[in-house]
Amino acid sequence: LGQVPSRLKPDATTDMVCGYCSTGCSLRIHLKDGEAINLTPTTEYPVNLGMACPKGWEALSVLDADDRATTPLLRTATGDLAPVSWDRAMTTMRDRFQKIGREHGPESVAFLSTGQLVTEEMALLGALTKFGMGMVHGDGNTRQCMATAATAYKESFGFDAPPFTYQDFEESDVIFLVGSNLCVAHPIMWERVCRNPHAPAIIVVDPRRTETAMAATLHLPIKPKSDLSFFYALAHILVREGWIDREYIEESTDRYEEFAEFVHAYTPERAAEASGVPVETIEQVARTIHEGKRVSFWWTMGVNQNYEGTRIAQSLINLALMTGNLGRPGAGANSITGQCNAMGSRIFSNTTGLYAGRDFKNAEHRQEVAEVLDIPVESIPTVDSWPYHQIIEGIRTGAIKGLWVICTNTSHSWIHQEDARELLSKLDFLVVQDMYHTTETAQQADLVLPAAGWGEKEGTFINSERRFGVVKKVRRPPGEALPDFSIFRLVADYWDCGEMFQRWSSPEAAFGVMQDLSRGRPCDLTGMGDYASIDHAGGAQWPCVEPAAEVDQQRRLFEDGRFYHEDGRAKFIWEETRAMPEEPDKSYPYLLLTGRGAASQWHTQTRTGKSAVLRKLYPQSIYVEVHPDDARREGIQQHSQVSVASRRGKLTATAFLTPTVQPGQVFIPMHYEATNRLTLAHFDPYSHQPSYKDCAVKLEALESE
Ligand code: SF4
Repeated sequence: LGQVPSRLKPDATTDMVCGYCSTGCSLRIHLKDGEAINLTPTTEYPVNLGMACPKGWEALSVLDADDRATTPLLRTATGDLAPVSWDRAMTTMRDRFQKIGREHGPESVAFLSTGQLVTEEMALLGALTKFGMGMVHGDGNTRQCMATAATAYKESFGFDAPPFTYQDFEESDVIFLVGSNLCVAHPIMWERVCRNPHAPAIIVVDPRRTETAMAATLHLPIKPKSDLSFFYALAHILVREGWIDREYIEESTDRYEEFAEFVHAYTPERAAEASGVPVETIEQVARTIHEGKRVSFWWTMGVNQNYEGTRIAQSLINLALMTGNLGRPGAGANSITGQCNAMGSRIFSNTTGLYAGRDFKNAEHRQEVAEVLDIPVESIPTVDSWPYHQIIEGIRTGAIKGLWVICTNTSHSWIHQEDARELLSKLDFLVVQDMYHTTETAQQADLVLPAAGWGEKEGTFINSERRFGVVKKVRRPPGEALPDFSIFRLVADYWDCGEMFQRWSSPEAAFGVMQDLSRGRPCDLTGMGDYASIDHAGGAQWPCVEPAAEVDQQRRLFEDGRFYHEDGRAKFIWEETRAMPEEPDKSYPYLLLTGRGAASQWHTQTRTGKSAVLRKLYPQSIYVEVHPDDARREGIQQHSQVSVASRRGKLTATAFLTPTVQPGQVFIPMHYEATNRLTLAHFDPYSHQPSYKDCAVKLEALESE
């Protein structure tokens, strides 16, 4: 430390998990007088092993942004947002929401939350809104990223249970990545792949020649939306050749014979026609799966954000099941989560499912929760919440009149954004709780509640491999900003239902409540102890019934071949393919693909856009990737301005000519405000996840000035 300037010389350090993506890296925070002054990746944490991506390295800088919300802001008669006291903010929120509830029923006020809150905040929010405030409808922005995987797992395995541990990246001899640009979206996981000593076959299925596809041993640039035909054809070949694990199928699965009959019609020839991949290559891929000893199937948004997403995820689960590639090192049907706490939102947010994978419609489940929380069972709704898109639709129909948006940026990120924005403007009262008062959604709010961010509060996140990691308060929130947990407690007091949440006195106390709620469930946390014991253990994967420090910290599920369905068997699930909702045609001849553009940016750039370093690493003005052949035909020059229009909206972008997109397809990163002007509001019917990647557009070269 001899060269370190004195202002950066720490007098102590503490470790905590990163607050961006679901990898869940640990960062060592350097403290001076109790305040964070710097950070470095933690070397001995079992997730990141001393590595971090640019977002993690810059995690502290975004806390100092000028546009932090530092006081509550209330819309005035002249239309401005003006600072008010917390008392005025809370009184106004209560009076306006209660008035709406009296006039239109308690179902007319809803909330939209996020996978970025700590688990304890999600759990308290779910209890406060559903049991204390009388709301029925509330969902998280995890609907935009992980709902499909959660639905697929629940149906196939009987519980939303990603079975893997990151060590599987290093132990596979065949790594099958579908719709996942791991290099960019999950760079530390990609580093784990690079550490694999078995020279694995890395097969990437993606219409784009992404950074990951370039590094793969085989890239399969299938035509968009041919996924199901392609994976069913692989199953067809495995059945035809007898390349299946008969013993595993008989011991651990259900409905294999019907599935085998179903895929009979999905011939490699049919898949070749649908996907553009030659028959010989499809046959070769099936052989590679057969010859692999430890085959792992991984997927992210290319699968999840798809109108057939649930069935595509299950087509991968089926491949793992029929070849016995589950519950073994280096194997698995593995959905990689998106946000730092998407899994917390899936399991503990009490939104569209009751706590710990229970069901609002199940009387026994409601009774269990009522007993643990010591609340009247009648206070628990008996119906599921609407998913995100139905809440948005509810504004259109007048069913939803009041909305509380917490730590998410609907006006930027929701599919067919202009429509969503217009609908938000129709609400009787919109409350936005966020770190920044400048998000597109906060700018539409009637009331902004200033929230503390990562590093300014404590709690836990659950990463992609089911690992709880602790976050800590290492900075004071600016001005009057409060941790979301404190805001929820304040709301409870103003609603006069604070009594109900006496046990939830702090995030760590709430963690104790969550442990009680999880007892006997597949996601049992009762062995995790307190935050210090999770820290001491290097994080703790669920389930964790024994003390965290005493269990193996690299565990995978289903090692005994037993699943969560009553009969203990995993189910084969399938369905005929369906046509794309909006095919390119003469008027709109290109298919728009959206996705993550760079490892340095995160979602709507609400936070990452505040870091000068991260801004330098990524173009700040919107660009569109166009194949050179298409550019020639359209008269588009490299780096020229181009109009991109769909049936719903239009934007102007800089053209980036690259053969990494196929002819007939264009790519625009999701980080730009205008991207979702174009997208089509269409959803997977089972998970209700938006299908962001099927939207027809046209291109037009613009005259340079
Ligand atoms: Fe944070 Fe994810 Fe980057 Fe790790 S990979 S440092 S968790 S953003």
